[in-house]
Amino acid sequence: MDCQKVGALIRQLRKERHLTQKQLADALHISDKTVSKWECGMGCPDVTLLRSLSAVLCVPVAALLSGERMTHDKDGGNMNRIRFYHCPCCGNLMQTTGKASLSCCDRVCTPMTPQQPDAAHQLTVQCIEDDYYITFPHEMKKSHYITFVAYVTCNQMLFAKLYPEQGSEVRFPALRGGKLYFACNTHGLFVQDGVPTVPGDT
Ligand SMILES: [Zn+2]
Ligand SMILES: [Zn+2]
Repeated sequence: MDCQKVGALIRQLRKERHLTQKQLADALHISDKTVSKWECGMGCPDVTLLRSLSAVLCVPVAALLSGERMTHDKDGGNMNRIRFYHCPCCGNLMQTTGKASLSCCDRVCTPMTPQQPDAAHQLTVQCIEDDYYITFPHEMKKSHYITFVAYVTCNQMLFAKLYPEQGSEVRFPALRGGKLYFACNTHGLFVQDGVPTVPGDT
């Protein structure tokens, strides 16, 4: 741990949370001298305190250890920058509308890179009444299947989680425009443009 960096971060976070050194110390059942020592870079918090320090300052323990903030630039939650993450350990699927620091099962998650659809991974979209009826030729075996299909417009996302042995089809209400994202458990994420814009067109 770099005590200078960690101390500076603690001071910054404490001030943002409107806490005095005394209030922070009391919350951790330690003396305010200790807090002041950390903030001057004259010693790092003991590992036994990291968990409570992380809870009081509302930051991940990893940030306290590195002394670095994990904030990202504002992006206004633009759905064009949507990212999908998949945890290879537990299969958890996560999605964000901008850069994020996510972890699952003790691993840092990196966003999946969307690829152009290929012959084996593409969706056929038909308009049926007010719905998009989406089908795909991909197999749905436990060893190789489509894990989800998401329909993303500029301000909405519809998400269908799929399971092995399920039919190769999804139905979404037809919104205007947007993109379809889908992922295969073996071949990763795909993005397909060209959702019919007006219900009734195919
Ligand atoms: Zn996980
Ligand atoms: Zn595949």
